[in-house]
Formats: sequence, C-alpha cells, structure tokens
Amino acid sequence: MKLSKAKHKDTEECYMSNGLRIGVYPGSFDPLTNGHLDIIHRASKLFDKLIVAVLHNDSKQAVFSMEERVELIKKCTGDIENVEVDMFSGLLVNYVKKKQAVAIVKGLRAVSDYEYELQMAMLNKHIDKNVETIFLMADIQNSFLSSSIVKELAKNGGNISGLVPEQIIDDINLTLRKKL
Ligand code: ADP
Repeated sequence: MKLSKAKHKDTEECYMSNGLRIGVYPGSFDPLTNGHLDIIHRASKLFDKLIVAVLHNDSKQAVFSMEERVELIKKCTGDIENVEVDMFSGLLVNYVKKKQAVAIVKGLRAVSDYEYELQMAMLNKHIDKNVETIFLMADIQNSFLSSSIVKELAKNGGNISGLVPEQIIDDINLTLRKKL
C-alpha cells in the first residue's frame, strides 16, 4: 500500500490510506470500560475506519494480558462495521504513520486529563506535523470512570454493572479473581 498525503488548500498535509480516513484510538484498555466504548462509538462515525490500538507498555503493569484486552474489545465492538482492534508497542506516531491514519483520537474526562493529553498531542505534532489529535469529551456519566476504578471495585467484590459493557462483566470478574 502506498502512503499518500492529501494536499489541503492551506498547504497542510495529512496521511490517507487509499482515500480512506483512518483514526487511531490508542490506550491501555485494562480493561475496556463504558467510557472507552462510548468514545469508540462516537469516533467510528467520524472516520471511514477506526483502529482501537491496545498499547503494550513495559513501564505500566497491566492486569489483563494484551490478548485478553483485545478479545474484550472485539467482543463489544463486533457490531460496529468500521472498527478494527489491534495492538502496538513503541512510538504512537510511528504506528499512526504505518497505518496511514489521519488522526489520533483521545477521550477527555476532566481538566486533569487535559494537561497530560495536551503535552502528548504537542509532542506527537513535534515528531510529525502531519499527525493530528482529536479530543472527544467524555460523556458526563462516564467522566468519573477509569479502568483502575473498575479493577479496584471488582477486586473487592463490588458490582461493576453499568461501568463496563454487560457482555464482558463475567470475563472481567473471572480474570480478576484468578489474577488478584
Ligand atoms: P485509563 O486512563 O483509564 O487507564 P486508557 O489508557 O485505557 O485509560 O485510555 C485510553 C483513552 O481513553 C484515553 O484517551 C483516555 O482519556 C480515554 N478514556 C479513558 N476512560 C474514559 C472515560 N471514562 N470516558 C471517556 N474517555 C476515556
């Protein structure tokens, strides 16, 4: 596949794959929550294809394996035609370029997310000026929700219903019981 760049009238360029607008939604997804799924649904409407990319991060100890995280996401997104689930390691910008994606998608929950995400977006733009980052505001009912909260709650016997998609509640509880 040839890497093509679309010329815009203000001479800015962006990556496109065979005329398709691809978005990459990266994250740990350890595990997927309703907050993530909401962003996936909304972002899938903005791009021809959305790649949910599970990050392998050596410096962040994950509870769910890469394969488990990918499986959980696939189970919840199988009905969205233009969503693909993948995994990657290393620099996000390199992965985005490899996939010929036009933008990185990020979810913003609170002001606290903003500072870090702004820094990351600027860094990525510095590495490659053609890589845009698009921020979607978290739905108000998910704005307190994180994978860590889900793990903490489930580990202590709490009910995670309403925080993660119904079809993966049992998988999450089972895996956590085995591992923690
Ligand atoms: P966490 O911070 O929960 O470990 P991830 O690394 O898995 O999150 O997050 C991947 C992306 O999803 C990030 O852009 C993050 O801001 C976003 N995100 C995480 N939780 C939510 C939520 N509850 N609502 C909207 N976006 C979220």
